[in-house]
Amino acid sequence: MIKVKRPAMPDILKESHPDWTKTLVDLVNEYGRYDKIPKDEKKQIVNQYQHNDIKEAVKKMFHGKCVFCEEHIETVTYTHIEHFHPKSIYYEETFEWENLFPACSKCNISKGKHDTKKEPIVNPEKDDPEKYFIYPLVRIQSAPESPDSEKSQRTIEVCDLKRLSLYRAMATILNQFYENERTLEEKMNDCNNLTQKAAKIKRLHRIHETLESMKATSANTESHAGFLRYLLRTNEVVKNAIQLINKHKNELALCSDFELY
Ligand SMILES: [Zn+2]
Repeated sequence: MIKVKRPAMPDILKESHPDWTKTLVDLVNEYGRYDKIPKDEKKQIVNQYQHNDIKEAVKKMFHGKCVFCEEHIETVTYTHIEHFHPKSIYYEETFEWENLFPACSKCNISKGKHDTKKEPIVNPEKDDPEKYFIYPLVRIQSAPESPDSEKSQRTIEVCDLKRLSLYRAMATILNQFYENERTLEEKMNDCNNLTQKAAKIKRLHRIHETLESMKATSANTESHAGFLRYLLRTNEVVKNAIQLINKHKNELALCSDFELY
C-alpha cells in the first residue's frame, strides 16, 4: 500500500452530489432506515455514483490499481468504486468524492460493511501507508514504528491482505528483485576491483543505471509498489550502492543525491 493522490472532483459529482445526497437522505427519513428503502427505489438513486465520468476518474486516481492490495485491477476483474466509509451506514457520504476509491473485488468484498469510523483502517489518501506496514518474507505486517499498530493490523484483516494470491504475486516480484540485487552486487564488486579512474567511473554509471531501473519498479504506477519500496529501503546491497553513487555524484555529474521513492 502507498499513498494515493486524489485528482479533482469530476464535474458531474460537483454539480449533482448535493441533490443526490438530499434525495437519498429524504428517502432514509421517509422509510426510517437506509436498509428499509425498497431495493429498486434505492438502486435508482444510489447507483448514480456509478456514472461513467465518476468511474473513469476513480480508475485514473491510482493508475488502474486497487488502493488496498495494489494489484492492477482490470487484468482480472472490473474496478469497484469503494466507499471508504460504508454507504450502508454513512449513506450521507455515498456521493462524497473523498469517500470514493478504486478497489478490486477481493478487497472490496472483504472490507464489506466494516465500520471505518468506529474501527478505523489505514486511509490511503490521508495516512501514509508506508509508515504502517512492513513485508518481511513477503508477509505483510504492522511496522514496528507504525503510528497506530492496531490500525495497521485491522487494515490487514479487514482487506484480507494476507491472501495467498497476493503472496504469489509478491513472490514473483521478490524473485525479480533478487536477480536485480545480484546484478547490482556483481557490478559493485567489479567496480571495487578496478584501479583505473575512467574504467571505475564507467562502472559507477552502470551501478547508477541499475539503481534507477530498480527504483522504477516501485513507481506509483507499478503493482505492489509499497512492497517494492520496503524491499529497496531495507536491502543492504541497495543501501551500499546508493552510498557509493552519492559519494561519487560529482564525478558522475549528478545534480543531486540519488534517492528512493
Ligand atoms: Zn485489492
